[in-house]
Amino acid sequence: MRPQGLWRFLGLNKRSSTRCFLPAGPGRQSIRNLTSAPRVPDFAFAFDIDGVLLRSSKPIPGAAESLALLKREGIPFILLTNGGGKHETERVAEISEKLQVPLDADVIIQSHSPFAEMVQGTETQSALENKRVLVVGGDGNRCREVAERYGFQNVVTPGDIFMANSSIWPFSKPFSDYYKTFARPLSHTGDATDPTKGLKVDAVLVFNDPRDWALDAHIIVDLLLSSQGALGTLSEKNGRTDLPNRGYQQDGQPPIYFSNPDLWWAAAYSLPRLGQGGFREALEGTWSAITGGPSKGVELQKTVIGKPSQGTYEYAENQLLRNRARAFGFNSPNPLRNVYMVGDNPESDIRGANSYRSAHDSQWHSILVRTGVYLGGEPAWTPKTIANDVLKAVEWGLQHSKWQPR
Ligand SMILES: [Mg+2]
Repeated sequence: MRPQGLWRFLGLNKRSSTRCFLPAGPGRQSIRNLTSAPRVPDFAFAFDIDGVLLRSSKPIPGAAESLALLKREGIPFILLTNGGGKHETERVAEISEKLQVPLDADVIIQSHSPFAEMVQGTETQSALENKRVLVVGGDGNRCREVAERYGFQNVVTPGDIFMANSSIWPFSKPFSDYYKTFARPLSHTGDATDPTKGLKVDAVLVFNDPRDWALDAHIIVDLLLSSQGALGTLSEKNGRTDLPNRGYQQDGQPPIYFSNPDLWWAAAYSLPRLGQGGFREALEGTWSAITGGPSKGVELQKTVIGKPSQGTYEYAENQLLRNRARAFGFNSPNPLRNVYMVGDNPESDIRGANSYRSAHDSQWHSILVRTGVYLGGEPAWTPKTIANDVLKAVEWGLQHSKWQPR
């Protein structure tokens, strides 16, 4: 899924819209009168996936019916998940197959989808298209492949660095066979005996849960302590009390982005397992031990996206607006007023929807379902309503927006 600025997309849509195909002029009005004009809903839905549509990869009753109903009614929706690790097209194909509802890749937003915007740059991050990015996490080469499909041209992984010089973390030697399957040679750094020496990294993108925490954490720490993001160097500014953050991350080190804040995730094991948030906490603990941490006024400067962050909801809303523009034309009569966020996790889905402030004046309503992690009782974040399952949630939303299904 290649990202495009909203304005650019809308401009493109204006030319290619499938709804605005009638030429302007008197004929257009008369044809319109002969056909029933499509109803344009001023609302949309956003669904979490795990615990709402699927559970342990199996469809939750009512999920397929809900999406089929919305498609039939022409009501836009997106799937907003903190999951990831594969490209949006692959993920959406899996969900389509499981639910037996055809879906386009532009309805899904995974935790790392917003990273795609950094290829061309954002308000806070200059373009990374041709910069070297360290992609961390996920199975084998999969996240590198996703990053490359987003448009990043120069992606390295901790596995590449390890295979170029395993002494960077000798305790990963038992995993050599794994890394061998996908590691790529590092581009030349001028040191033939150690290609990692001086390798400059411009940004660290934690795409998915790291598989080899120690190697990944160590390389990240090396970069955060480096001068100008060059591996094998140490910044002279580290520890300087006259500088902000005691001199740490003040010397051109790469910014670090985490795609998902979840401490836990529900897996096949009887108890929840540590998620990407667990890795981040471990890294932050190590960082504190190295730098003195908050007691010395040092923090790990980082960006964390994924639900419940404002940025992820903003990205989701922009995607909804693009999809609406494609469906209803550039000058749709009804702006988007209400979005119903259906989720099973109070901490991410409900909190995110409740806290989100839209730049487009839409109102987000949280609906908590009972088919996932929420097991009853007083939720940590109070939803607008609680529904037994996704179909009940959709019915609630339709009623709230006074929409009569055909
Ligand atoms: Mg969930």
